[in-house]
Amino acid sequence: MDKEKAKAKFMGDAEAVFERMWSWGAEHSQATLDEIAAELVPLRQELMGELLGELAQQHGDGRYEEVVCSACGEKMKSSGRRRRKVLHAEGEVKIKRGYHRCPQCGQGIFPPGSKAPSDAA
Ligand SMILES: [Zn+2]
Repeated sequence: MDKEKAKAKFMGDAEAVFERMWSWGAEHSQATLDEIAAELVPLRQELMGELLGELAQQHGDGRYEEVVCSACGEKMKSSGRRRRKVLHAEGEVKIKRGYHRCPQCGQGIFPPGSKAPSDAA
């Protein structure tokens, strides 16, 4: 997603969180700070999880990166994109990234970096 599109989506989502919380606050005039936070935290996690996913793909999805297997040094082969869900402290992050597999030893990764579970879908 390009910057303007991603920004418009984020701003729209943030506005929806604001509106929802403002309405909730109007209906809960006696709410404590902890009660307000309990209502807000899941919405914040969803919002930040989506933003984190966008930022993680700001430089592409890694599909065409050249990757060398960290285990055996063989050049890895791209095997399309796969969806991946990561549970982060900021929220659940859903990303769709290029997946590479080593023809030599079978190790798979989502570049850059982390080793993927062998049957991630
Ligand atoms: Zn390998």
